[in-house]
Amino acid sequence: MTKFIFVTGGVVSSVGKGIVAASVGRILKARGHRVAILKLDPYINVDPGTMSPYQHGEVYVTDDGAETDLDLGHYERFLGMNVTRASSSSTGQVYEEVIRKERRGDFLGGTIQPIPHITNEIRRRIRLAGQSLDADIVLVEVGGTVGDMEGQPFLEAISQMRYAAPPEDTLSIHVTLLPYIGATKELKTKPTQHSVRELRSFGLQPDVIVTRSDFPVARSLREKISQFCNVDLDAVIALETADSIYEVPLYLDATGIGEIIQRKLHLEEKRSDLDEWRSFVERLRTPESQLRIAIVGKYVELHDAYLSIKEALVHAGVEHHAGLDLQWVHSEDLEVRSPEEVIGDVDGILLCPGFGDRGLEGKIAAVRYARENLIPYLGDCLGMQMLVTEFARNVAGMPGANTTEADPRTPFPVISLLSEQQGVEDLGGTMRLGGFPCRLEPGTRAYEAYGQPLVRERHRHRYEVNNALLPQLQAQGLIASGWSPDGKLVEIVELRDHPWMVGAQFHPEFTSRPNMPNPLFKGFIGAALVYARDHQRTTAGSTA
Ligand code: GLN
Repeated sequence: MTKFIFVTGGVVSSVGKGIVAASVGRILKARGHRVAILKLDPYINVDPGTMSPYQHGEVYVTDDGAETDLDLGHYERFLGMNVTRASSSSTGQVYEEVIRKERRGDFLGGTIQPIPHITNEIRRRIRLAGQSLDADIVLVEVGGTVGDMEGQPFLEAISQMRYAAPPEDTLSIHVTLLPYIGATKELKTKPTQHSVRELRSFGLQPDVIVTRSDFPVARSLREKISQFCNVDLDAVIALETADSIYEVPLYLDATGIGEIIQRKLHLEEKRSDLDEWRSFVERLRTPESQLRIAIVGKYVELHDAYLSIKEALVHAGVEHHAGLDLQWVHSEDLEVRSPEEVIGDVDGILLCPGFGDRGLEGKIAAVRYARENLIPYLGDCLGMQMLVTEFARNVAGMPGANTTEADPRTPFPVISLLSEQQGVEDLGGTMRLGGFPCRLEPGTRAYEAYGQPLVRERHRHRYEVNNALLPQLQAQGLIASGWSPDGKLVEIVELRDHPWMVGAQFHPEFTSRPNMPNPLFKGFIGAALVYARDHQRTTAGSTA
């Protein structure tokens, strides 16, 4: 019998509901339960693939090629597993499916309504996510905040599921914020009380309340919440803002949430084993060296736009016992200020993915600076395309070389549209998406990093290296070190005359996990460590 845990949010969004859901998943997995996890997103877009990063943050890509919410990244990293497109449903997808069935005549004679047609489809999707992973517990996170108009069908569907199932088969966790009033120096519970009342209006009584706050929560406040919301005192769990999201599973586990869930869901009592996770967090807390890494992109004021990249850097840093001081650099800054000024003191440069031509010349400037100064460089998707473009312009004698995405009339289209993309008109879900195999050339840095000839990484792009111009680039020292197995698409490039300058057409960040960093990120940070050591030696030598 599958059990369901529903995670809803109250008061405001962005309080870390996804981290709580992922942490609970980890805690249950650590007790040997088979867990599936999914996110229900109330927006009407079919997926976030067409949304601006300013609106939505990063688009996370699953191995099976779905463009999803960034919480799926937390799920994969915290649970140490790959989820599928079944782990992500939006209002847009739900309606798309119901309308498709209506057109096919499945409901002939009926009037299609939110209840039961939309709620049935939501319930079908929740069950499907569990079946696809053969789970005994399905964690369901509802995006947004209780009270949002667009979230109502999801809460209604959950309410139906709770009504239909025995009490020990479902559990509701409500995550809220306790705001801090500076003038009186106190945390307030009233918004939580209101939020629970709103949740109850859907027939959903929470079993566990997780309060988020930036300050410690007194027992008396937990007692108040317990009384007003009819939740056991031990199930009112205060989660203070942690130094790192990776501490949250350990912290929540120590509050006894695992036992509470096992008890309420009548699960076999199992002992938790979070030792591996704990050792990762300990290493994270005690770095032996410090590196300065520049992240160059055009949405850097919004770190969520590059969330998985940031996490992959953290994983690689921990692997090398190195703490990372991340410098978020706006690519347009590099169009008006010199690289020396902006990134003159970094030990490594990571160039982010991206679309369109804004800030592109700044990115090229970052590539040139890394190449000429032998600074370790990792190019991620567009960052790889810019590596190739800069090399073409400034080393291979191709002035004006460019990607045709930015300059369709460039004399040297070193990056051009994938043949399968010619004639594609729809923007949503039509890129080269998801996991593809990549064959590595022996003797290259890429091969050295992965230590095996065939790997699988996730893509999200329309353009690729133009093979017609490749021989000219290769003749000057650009190495194509990763290829699609049919030998048609260049997937990784690197420079012969540079200690570690590598670009990947895929997004290596999506397969990075705590205790299992992506090999390219690991190689990049390893090279940055060497650079930092050498650099300090040089500085010490020259001042002596
Ligand atoms: N805009 C480029 C392309 O479509 C790169 C995409 C990316 O960086 N994800 O190929």
